[in-house]
Amino acid sequence: MLQAAELAVHQCRRSPNTSYTIFNHEFKAYASRQLELDNQMRRDFNDRKFQLYYQPIFGAETLKIVGFESLIRWYNNTQLISNFEFIPLAEETGFIIPLGTWGFGQACWQFQQWRSQFPQVASMFININVSVIQLMQPNLLSQIDHILKVTEIPPQQIQLEITETALMNNAEDITDILKQIKSRKINLCIDDFGTGYSSLSYLHNFPFDTIKVDKSFISGMERDQKSVEIVRTIALMANCLDINLVAEGVETQGQLRQLQNLKYQTIQGYLLAQPMSVAALEDYLQRQHHNCCPEAG
Ligand code: C2E
Ligand code: CA
Ligand code: CA
Repeated sequence: MLQAAELAVHQCRRSPNTSYTIFNHEFKAYASRQLELDNQMRRDFNDRKFQLYYQPIFGAETLKIVGFESLIRWYNNTQLISNFEFIPLAEETGFIIPLGTWGFGQACWQFQQWRSQFPQVASMFININVSVIQLMQPNLLSQIDHILKVTEIPPQQIQLEITETALMNNAEDITDILKQIKSRKINLCIDDFGTGYSSLSYLHNFPFDTIKVDKSFISGMERDQKSVEIVRTIALMANCLDINLVAEGVETQGQLRQLQNLKYQTIQGYLLAQPMSVAALEDYLQRQHHNCCPEAG
């Protein structure tokens, strides 16, 4: 009974607006699957089976790359495990701390390599997703300081992406740390904007530089007028507050045109580039460099 009660409490905590739940035998099967995934995740992490992919971010008018977002990939043998499956688990167990620390260091190190290898990358930026659990970790700032020191990346070329929902649920705990990160000149971006409560108070209270409009609104733009109005209103607000705008999940020429008309500055999506492995992205940068400067070796 105690074990069943514990599983039910655990399941209840996973659903934010649920105050009670009734034990169900599926909870047990679910818990053992999660345990297995957790063990596999730790083993594969030690075996260096995690890697980062990078998706270019483009200027909406120039369609030239202005930066990259690092996105974690876990291949268990050849099978890709979805981020939506293991990241929530890693957040729950705390494993997101070693995983996120590795991801942050790896993305900075890779970005610095590219800055010295490809002249066009020297002025770009790198966006790194961070979980709120990472933000609450006491030695985060010393890790950031260490990485800034060893890589020598100008901090204003690093941007941390934090999801709106995570912000909303932990506003008080992370205000201070966000201010301290900002005092190091690192930029902050609200990810998946529009999916939480989009409270104006956190735009006011937190030092955010960029809003990334969630892809659900972008994909809706060609289907319904409401999405267009939401995307337009977010742009108006961001312009008034002097906050940069990114639209993610841009998949069609029609969406691109609409975003250009609405004066979006930067865009990201399969239309222009998918997330790529290091080798694929280097190839891509090389080709781009040749296209723009044919005389380059
Ligand atoms: P996100 O930060 O919102 O990342 C955007 C997701 O949309 C990525 O999925 C990307 O591959 C996908 N995407 C990009 N362009 C398009 C498009 O045009 N259409 C569609 N339909 N999708 C597009 P991915 O890589 O599976 O990542 C899922 C989520 O996992 C991310 O969502 C982010 O919240 C989280 N994540 C990824 N890497 C990390 C990480 O290193 N640390 C943490 N804490 N979270 C991460
Ligand atoms: Ca993101
Ligand atoms: Ca997003």
